[in-house]
Amino acid sequence: MSEPLPAFDGRHPPIDPPAECINPLVWRLSRRLFADHMPGPDGWCLLCRPAITYPCVARQLADRGLTFAMTGRDPVTDRSSHRGNRGHRW
Ligand SMILES: [Zn+2]
Repeated sequence: MSEPLPAFDGRHPPIDPPAECINPLVWRLSRRLFADHMPGPDGWCLLCRPAITYPCVARQLADRGLTFAMTGRDPVTDRSSHRGNRGHRW
């Protein structure tokens, strides 16, 4: 299960990139993905039904992308964008 985005403390991240965002394009793409893969009343992703788990893979990627846009680090691989991101692991 993905971690909540620390900067937003359980609240939905804003649609527009925050001022401190270092990669607005990744933010916008990830924020759209985040919005598309919300849980329904039963807790499962509204878009990925039937699903096996929640968060679904797309929502996990959205969370990673939002974190990457803010920090330049992928929370799963813990790699900085400055160390090279060839062979994208997404
Ligand atoms: Zn989904």
